[in-house]
Amino acid sequence: MNRRSLIKRLGIGTLSGLVLGNSAFADTLDQANDIIKTAKHSLRFAHLTDVHMQPELDAPKWLASCLHHVQSHTEKPALIINTGDCIMDALKQPKDRVETQWKLWHQLMTGENSLPLEYAIGNHDCWGAGQKSDPLYGKNYALDMMRLNKPYRSFDQAGWHFVVLDSIQPRTNDGKWYACQLDDAQFEWLGQDLAANRDKHTVILSHAPILSAAPLVVGHLGKTDTGYDLGGGSILNDAERVVTLFTQHPQVKLALSGHIHLTDEVKYQGVSYISNGAVSGNWWKGDRYATKNGYAMVDLYEDGTFDNQYFTYGWKA
Ligand SMILES: [Zn+2]
Repeated sequence: MNRRSLIKRLGIGTLSGLVLGNSAFADTLDQANDIIKTAKHSLRFAHLTDVHMQPELDAPKWLASCLHHVQSHTEKPALIINTGDCIMDALKQPKDRVETQWKLWHQLMTGENSLPLEYAIGNHDCWGAGQKSDPLYGKNYALDMMRLNKPYRSFDQAGWHFVVLDSIQPRTNDGKWYACQLDDAQFEWLGQDLAANRDKHTVILSHAPILSAAPLVVGHLGKTDTGYDLGGGSILNDAERVVTLFTQHPQVKLALSGHIHLTDEVKYQGVSYISNGAVSGNWWKGDRYATKNGYAMVDLYEDGTFDNQYFTYGWKA
């Protein structure tokens, strides 16, 4: 149980009115106090994902509302982490349409937001409709717009280690965008990076979920005679090797992603894999199943625990 839910469950706010003397309760309270005492707050950040910016459907107005909501919390986040699909689509769009979408994105992120931004690349951020000879073809367009030198990297903040993965690759069979997986060089780098940072609690960031339960019960997936057949693009194709790597690195506590536009949480082998819903909901057309348009506020603590709270920001059709 995490700190916030423990406090909620115990109703700490009303403790002063309780009669002491119940030893079981006192033990639980001691436990709670221990957790509260030791779990010193490290960092708060907002996790925004799948904004899918476009001029249509009032997307700019609603992203502005979302950014205002993010910045209105009494306890302000130190940064925004955006896990991709910033724009509606670059995969199948001509250059001028891609430019229009990124221009809007930057106008809003500088005009309506004063928080620093970290990015992970999404599939719709990659320009797949251009000529391969164009220097901005594919991932380069996204890198340029996100002001990044490399599609994957790591950094430290407030005592925590952050690993930003590039979960979108060109498909090897037909050369088209996109497959959700890590390339081999990146996977090797990931192993080295985790080995070099064993002493730091770690958050993994990726656009596509590494592990997720929702694709089993939602959307485009068919159940065959042999069991569930996960559609391509649901989770990382190479999730098995990534999850196995994490079992050798218990400092990995949390893996955050987007892509499926659904709130979903799987805890496996000590790692919480959380997909937070999309700022754009169902691509600005409504709720995505039970998930409303929103974003998450994430609190990290010195003892390696965290809270992830999902907030809606008032979007209406
Ligand atoms: Zn998306």
